Amino acid sequence: MTGNALVIKLQEVVGRGHVSAEVNDLLAHAVDAYGRWRAVQVATPLAVVFARSTEDVQKTLEFASQNGVPVVPYGGGTGVSGGATSITPGIVLSLRGLDRVHELDAEGLRAQVGPGMILEDLATAAEAKGALFAHDPWSRPIASVGGSIAINGVGYLAGKYGVMGEQVLGLEVVLPDGRVVETRGVPKAAGPGLTPLFIGSEGTLGVITRATLQLFPLPERRALAAYRFPNFEDGFLATLEMRRVGLAPALVDFAEEPFSGEDGAILYLGFDGPAEEVAADEAIGRRICQAHRGALLPQKKVDHFWAARHESGWNYKREVLARPPARRRRRPWRMDYLHIALPASRVLEYHRLCKEMVQRHEAPVHEWSLWGRPEYFSLIVADPAPDGVARSAALTAVADEMLRVANDMGGTMEYCHGVGLKLGSQMERELGPAMTLLRDVKKTLDPKGIMNPGKMGL
Ligand SMILES: Cc1cc2nc3c(=O)[nH]c(=O)nc-3n(C[C@H](O)[C@H](O)[C@H](O)COP(=O)(O)OP(=O)(O)OC[C@H]3O[C@@H](n4cnc5c(N)ncnc54)[C@H](O)[C@@H]3O)c2cc1C
Repeated sequence: MTGNALVIKLQEVVGRGHVSAEVNDLLAHAVDAYGRWRAVQVATPLAVVFARSTEDVQKTLEFASQNGVPVVPYGGGTGVSGGATSITPGIVLSLRGLDRVHELDAEGLRAQVGPGMILEDLATAAEAKGALFAHDPWSRPIASVGGSIAINGVGYLAGKYGVMGEQVLGLEVVLPDGRVVETRGVPKAAGPGLTPLFIGSEGTLGVITRATLQLFPLPERRALAAYRFPNFEDGFLATLEMRRVGLAPALVDFAEEPFSGEDGAILYLGFDGPAEEVAADEAIGRRICQAHRGALLPQKKVDHFWAARHESGWNYKREVLARPPARRRRRPWRMDYLHIALPASRVLEYHRLCKEMVQRHEAPVHEWSLWGRPEYFSLIVADPAPDGVARSAALTAVADEMLRVANDMGGTMEYCHGVGLKLGSQMERELGPAMTLLRDVKKTLDPKGIMNPGKMGL
């Protein structure tokens, strides 16, 4: 089917006003944040469907399945692994119009919302009713609920409240053939649990059209503190000990940044909850940090950190999303940001092995960090051979070695940003024989292979 014929047919299916083939719409929806920084073969979509309801999604997928047209679900377009980047010309399905709050039950601590709702808007709506929506990533001002569930993102408060997927109670999903399925919006349901099948599935198995989410009480007190440790090891051992004694800080943001001008490694630590409990947690946290040579820093340091935590999201909104595609700022990104989860007891060994690798590859590391819990270990490695292109073979070699070693040590190659295009080629190694199972699931739900083809190694 030609692009024109496709647009006319789609307009008949979902309504004229809901389909665009206007060049700015096509270009704006061809890439996400991954495409901005990396050399990717991006395909211009044939059409963008601006869905307003589950029925629009249903009709679009039914049509696409019948005609074998690829569909890329699109939320905020802020993903950094390329999940929403188009690599074959097809339909981009924008879910931003499904942004209603269907229910906000502050008493029962539950919200039911459309996937297109921006996280910031949900946080504000929940707070106005006296409840906390606890998924709080850097990208809170720009990322959608659906995109965050689809990549299973991580935010600042994950230490206490969990990653995005852990806050999902139930989902309504449109399957690739247009069938609508719904899982129960309660903490535990009968049977094997189908909600997790769609969490982290990056739009390859279906489209999330409604999410039931767990809210939390607004904390009576939030105590934030900053500590400076002489090195990464000392701070890591402090977070590990907090775990061992049963402390669950809401905020663990720990980083050693060799090029930042800061000495040692800084831990931003936060506790949420009833005032008496927070006072006790705070005191235990301080005692543990000091026992591991952590020095308490002035309060204004952590206050500034907390107030500025969404700055990169607001910048992205100003410099990218608010501008027409041709005027969007494109900075070359000659680094790789890796987010590896490992058994906590192996993190320091892995850290040491990475140090050997970067020395061998002569690749400078700009950050060694933990986010949320001791198992979540991140690093930013710079390109050892920047040559004007976005990424050299030398950077790929050092990053691949780090990911392989993480897998060999029983870890996972990505805990935060999803697999998308960036890591699709490594899924076979990550999952081992379970990759066949994932392919079987994909084949069963999406026999025509229309849902976000080429992502997650599928
Ligand atoms: C400045 C900046 C800071 C960031 N900080 C963080 C951070 O702190 N933590 C973090 O986790 N991530 C972060 N990210 C990455 C990004 O914001 C997250 O991955 C976010 O969750 C993506 O949401 P989105 O709505 O933009 O999804 P999109 O980019 O639109 O899509 C992401 C994936 O989900 C699929 N998808 C989207 N909506 C649906 C749906 N309704 N149903 C099924 N599939 C769907 C897409 O096809 C794609 O595969 C950051 C990105 C930027 C640019």
